[in-house]
Amino acid sequence: MSRVLVTGGAGYIGSHACKLLSQSGYVPVAYDNLSTGWEDAVKFGPFENGDLLDRVRLREVFETHKPIAVMHFAALSQVGEAVEKPGLYWRNNVCGSLNLIETAVEFDCLDFVFSSTCATYGDQDGVTLTEDSDQQPLNAYGASKRAIEDILGDFEVSHGLRSVIFRYFNVAGADPDGEIGEHHRPETHLIPVMLDAIDGNRDGLTVFGTDYDTPDGTCIRDYVHVMDLVDAHVSGLKWLERGNDSRVFNLGTGNGFSVLDVIKSSGIVTNKEVPYSIGPRRNGDCVKLVSGSERARKELGWRPTRSTMKEMITDAWRWHQSGQYEK
Ligand code: UDP
Repeated sequence: MSRVLVTGGAGYIGSHACKLLSQSGYVPVAYDNLSTGWEDAVKFGPFENGDLLDRVRLREVFETHKPIAVMHFAALSQVGEAVEKPGLYWRNNVCGSLNLIETAVEFDCLDFVFSSTCATYGDQDGVTLTEDSDQQPLNAYGASKRAIEDILGDFEVSHGLRSVIFRYFNVAGADPDGEIGEHHRPETHLIPVMLDAIDGNRDGLTVFGTDYDTPDGTCIRDYVHVMDLVDAHVSGLKWLERGNDSRVFNLGTGNGFSVLDVIKSSGIVTNKEVPYSIGPRRNGDCVKLVSGSERARKELGWRPTRSTMKEMITDAWRWHQSGQYEK
């Protein structure tokens, strides 16, 4: 069976990708330094502990597994941290990805699926973002991802490396079978933080700013279920296998939810009160990020089936309550 190298395969999105890859007839090889991932999330193929900054280790893993393609998820991805420590983000995300790309080329592994982000667009006056929108990242996280997109373009010209780049919006939910889910330490993302607050594991949720120019004053995001997201990744891999050209796809539903909308839905799904207070804005946050994802639907045949707010919170809540969340 064909092997696919999944960087960040022990992390939230990477582990879900590994599950779907293995169900789709591939062997996912999870490459992860466990800085934010969990070894027990690697359940669907071999685990290789390694850092993207370690070229020798990367070569060893390519030599051992001879992957036919790379799915590259491993990255630092917290907006607040990126504003505080831009050097960390540029070094880890960009230098690490460059090592990976150069090693893939060295081993003639020329199909590359890359996890990029809507944060590469920055704030654009609330317009719906399409793949052709300008990229004006507001922070080192978005800027580092945009730089990697550029590197992929250069390596296509010089080495024939073809890529599918997914710019995704906010990922939420968990494996509906309950085998894997979202687990960051520290947790910063809205939905898991909120579920923790509902459960009494933290004092409460702080809403970062209610003075934005939106109907209720809080930021608006487009949430997509992690299973729908990784489904697009497997389609992206097949797209490359069929010999198609490199392509960029947004992944979102086109529906915007404010922070207060998400709080309301969480209260309904869990049937519990959400303890929250209002705090100041968080540095680096965009007001509104909502996707136009027509291209993925038309060209990849992507059909998100689980990305309603209710289903995402239901699956996240099931995972949260399963006892596997706290380690
Ligand atoms: N948010 C919040 N309180 C939190 C975490 C997040 O108000 O404890 C807000 C955040 O400002 C943003 C939205 O929720 O508007 C989604 O943030 P998250 O960190 O989940 O994802 P991001 O959009 O930064 O990728």
